[in-house]
Amino acid sequence: MSREPASEQQLRADIVEVGRRLYARGYTASNDGNISVRLDDRRLLMTPKSVCKGFMTAEMMVVTDLDGRKIAGDRDPSSEMQMHLEVYRQRPDAQAVVHAHPPIATGFAVAGIPLDRAVLAEVITTLGSVPIADYATPSTKELPEAVRKYVKAHDGMLLANHGALTIGADLFAAYYKMETIEHFAKISLVARLLGGERLLSRQEVDRLQGLRGRYGIAAPAPICPPAPGGAGRPDLVADVLGAAAALGAADPASCQTVFAPESGGARLVPEQGEIRLTYGELTALIEAAVRELK
Ligand SMILES: [Zn+2]
Repeated sequence: MSREPASEQQLRADIVEVGRRLYARGYTASNDGNISVRLDDRRLLMTPKSVCKGFMTAEMMVVTDLDGRKIAGDRDPSSEMQMHLEVYRQRPDAQAVVHAHPPIATGFAVAGIPLDRAVLAEVITTLGSVPIADYATPSTKELPEAVRKYVKAHDGMLLANHGALTIGADLFAAYYKMETIEHFAKISLVARLLGGERLLSRQEVDRLQGLRGRYGIAAPAPICPPAPGGAGRPDLVADVLGAAAALGAADPASCQTVFAPESGGARLVPEQGEIRLTYGELTALIEAAVRELK
């Protein structure tokens, strides 16, 4: 699947087009967001500081080296340049980076809710999970540090109280991942308004992971194996302990945490938060918790 490398002229036009789409879809307001792409192994092409992404022209773009020194262009590079540079440093395979503030996904980032539940097949195969990088002041060097934790294993992440970041093998791949995140966020929001998601089972997630290869989807990392003891109901205590162990054991640099319960064969299972307990089960759980505390 080798392709001719795109010309600089083409990449400038592609950034303009991606910017127009981000703005048209309401993923950025005013001068928000930024876009970059590798020109070759030592130079990047990037959007300039303080322009609306919906009204850019090809000659506005800035050429920098991988340390952020400007090589060409009349304007200054994006104020989030350091975040882009960090992605290219950590991910030699990354060809393009898109950052925007799509409102529903950013709502999840503001609420502190990661998009990490196994809900949609196309999200599992293309992105896996979408974690939240810790809050950092925009345009400071805290932001690349927050992104570093997740960037090796994820092509898309939320930025706490800020927005979203996507990585791709070309500009449009990075842009489409931003669309997928926002679409996933919308669907998740509606499902929660309607009473909560039914989750794909762990077995179904494993099957979808296997399909990645068949469709030629290069995911940055596998989905983390389930925690030992993380079996399904009725042993809810083991479930809770298993989930806690999974959180502790999963390394966000090497695998993706996706919440997909064991199902005993069913492909769809109710969301864990939706499990209803009988009075007797609830009493037993409380008694067990009290014994733990003593
Ligand atoms: Zn931003």
